[in-house]
This record gives sequence, structure tokens and C-alpha cells, in this order.
Amino acid sequence: MTTDPYAWLEQSLTTIIRANWLRSVETLESLPGAVVQLEGRKVLNFASNDYLGLSGDWRLIEAAVAATREYGTGSTGSRLLSGHRKLHLQLEKAIASLKQTEDALVFSSGYLANLGTIAAVVGKRDLILADEYNHSSLKNGAILSGAKVVNYVHSHAADLHQQLAQNRHNYRRCLIITDSVFSMDGDLSPLPEILAIAEQFSCMVLVDEAHATGVLGTTGAGCVEHFGCSGQTLIQVGTLSKALGSLGGYVAGSSALTDFLRNRSPSWIYTTGLSPADTAAALAAIEIVEKEPQRRVQLSKNVDTLKQLIKQQLPQLKLLPSESPILCWQLDSAADALAAGQQLKASGIFAPAIRPPTVPSSRIRLSVMATHELAHFQQLVDVLVNIIHGSFDTPSPETRDS
Ligand SMILES: *Cc1c(COP(=O)(O)O)cnc(C)c1O
Repeated sequence: MTTDPYAWLEQSLTTIIRANWLRSVETLESLPGAVVQLEGRKVLNFASNDYLGLSGDWRLIEAAVAATREYGTGSTGSRLLSGHRKLHLQLEKAIASLKQTEDALVFSSGYLANLGTIAAVVGKRDLILADEYNHSSLKNGAILSGAKVVNYVHSHAADLHQQLAQNRHNYRRCLIITDSVFSMDGDLSPLPEILAIAEQFSCMVLVDEAHATGVLGTTGAGCVEHFGCSGQTLIQVGTLSKALGSLGGYVAGSSALTDFLRNRSPSWIYTTGLSPADTAAALAAIEIVEKEPQRRVQLSKNVDTLKQLIKQQLPQLKLLPSESPILCWQLDSAADALAAGQQLKASGIFAPAIRPPTVPSSRIRLSVMATHELAHFQQLVDVLVNIIHGSFDTPSPETRDS
């Protein structure tokens, strides 16, 4: 046999291209912010998870530089070996204080926090109930754990209840996992109902606050606070890389949970500790979240402003239901979403097309920042009006993609 064992790669790529599923990167050439330089052009940024505008904030930058000067660029090893610094402990205390939990544990990314936590708390004899729209890291964490995974209909408490009534008795432990703000839709999971059902069936709950931390709740603690559920026993996971403007992930909960994870979570034990720069930047961000609630207030005003403008000027635009800064314009096909994304970009708006397999239906995802201004929203809506009323010249297919 002389067949090329790698030939399937080209064939797979061809299939991906035909389905309009091919992804590529775009180079950002400036500090992050409401306006950025993208591939040589100034554009309005509606593509970022930097909800509070902190990742370009000089205080985070200074904190990262100072930590780098003091401790170097890398943390040089696992937290249990040479990779632990005082900064890590300070950050963990700050997260626990924000979340009103006994303790917190910092991972090198939110993805790793989900993988390592889910795989540590459940195993072969256990059951996972998962929202069908959960983030990839929750889905892969569930697979990695070896537990039986049952999906329930998106945000459907009655379906969750029914699946538990059918399956719970066959398993030892049970973990319910859900995004709190759904990352590609912008709606919220029905957390109070989920917690009540969890109690009834003796289940643990893991909620992923990636898009809620710093954004929702009176103090910015997230959806758990937003729904008045602070203080209840549950596992809160999140990221330092969205509203907190840095890099890394965390788990917040009881000390028993974090002590257990320090001993049993492979993606915490066998990976290098978070860098001093990222740790210090996240710590500075949490201080800002606590001291400057006006950023959160402005963000929520901005979301209302954009929704109002769209409602007034483009009542026919199909927005998915959202209670967060993530607003999605639903489109009929991946090709339509790609074309809309390209028309937006040609008009100076950076807002990505999100397509299968990330989501079941194609859309343009707009994310609002606290640092956007009224003129930015007006410009966005003007461009959307042009695209929807067909007064935009569609680029020919040859010039469309690189
Ligand atoms: C972004 C995201 C993550 C991953 O966080 P990283 O720190 O970027 O690895 C996990 N869960 C959800 C819901 C996310 O949106």
C-alpha cells in the first residue's frame, strides 16, 4: 500500500470549504478597544469579549509589566512544583471574595478549568445532565470524565426534571452543567429552577460564568448574583479572559471543592501555573470591577441603546432573545452569514459570522462594550440598514474570500 495516510486532510478541507464552514484568522494590529486597527483598517469592534474595555486599560498593563519585572515572564512549573507565587493566592482570594465563596482556584484557561473540574468531580459511575447549547469546554469535560452524558433541551427546566426522573436512580453522583450566559446566543440559563431541581434529585451544579463575571449582578459577581443565588452550594467556573481582560480561568466554591481539585484535577496539576503578568492583570481587573460599578452600568445602558436603535430603525432584523451584551442577528444560512460578515467588514464594522458546527443556525454575533459610544451604535445600525435594504454591493465570489 502506498496511499498517502495524510491525503484525507485535503479532502476534509474541501468538504469544509464547500459547506461555507472554513475558518480563518484576522489580524488585529492595535490595543483592544471599541475601535481597533484590523488588517490595516480602522474598524468599529463588535467582536470582542472585552465587555468592560479593560484589556487595553493602562492599570492592567502596568500591573502586568510590574509583575513581569518582579517575577519574570513564565511561572516555570506546575503550581505544585515551582509555579506558585504570592500573586496566585492573592488572585484566588480576590475571586472568592467577588463570588462570595469560601475559596477559588486559578487555572491556566477557562477551558482547562472546565475540563479539569468536570473530570475530577464525576466519573464512570456518575451521570451528567447538560444543556444542549453548552460551550465546547463543558461538552469535552463531560466526555473526558467518562460519566454518562444526557443532554436536556436548551434552558428547559421541565425537560431536565424529566431526564433526571428517568435516569438519576441508576447512577452514583450527578452533575448538572450549564453556561450561565450562553456564549453564542446571549440568553441566560434558568439558574434558580435548575438549583431547585438539583436539590430535589441530589445533584451537584456546575455553572460556567465566562460571559457573566464582571458583567451581571450588582457587584459584577455574575449570573449567580443576578438571580440572587449567591451563597448556595454550587460550582462556579469562569474565565479571566473576557470582562477581566487577561488570560486564565477559575473555579469558585467551597474549600472542600478547591482542596479536592488541587489533589485530583489533572488540568491544574499537570500544567504550568498562570504567568505572573496574566495573574497580576486579572487581579487589577477585579479591583476595577469592584471599585468602578459605573462601567457595568454603562454597559447595560449601551445594550439598551443598541436594542432601541435596532427596534426603531430595523424592526425586521431577527435578533435572538438576549439578556446580556451578546446580541445575535439570525440569518438563514452559513453563506448569508458569511456575506453579511463581509459586508459589515467592508463598511468598517468588525462582527463575526458564527456558523455550524459552533451553533445550530448561522448568525452575526454583536458584542457590546462599556466603552462603545452612541455614534458607534448609530454607525453600526446605518450599515445594517444598508445591508438589509439591499443597497450594499455584494462583492463577487472571487473577491470575497482569501
Ligand atoms: C470563552 C469560554 C470559555 C473558555 O475560556 P478561556 O479562558 O478562553 O479558555 C469557557 N466557557 C465559556 C462559556 C466561554 O465562553
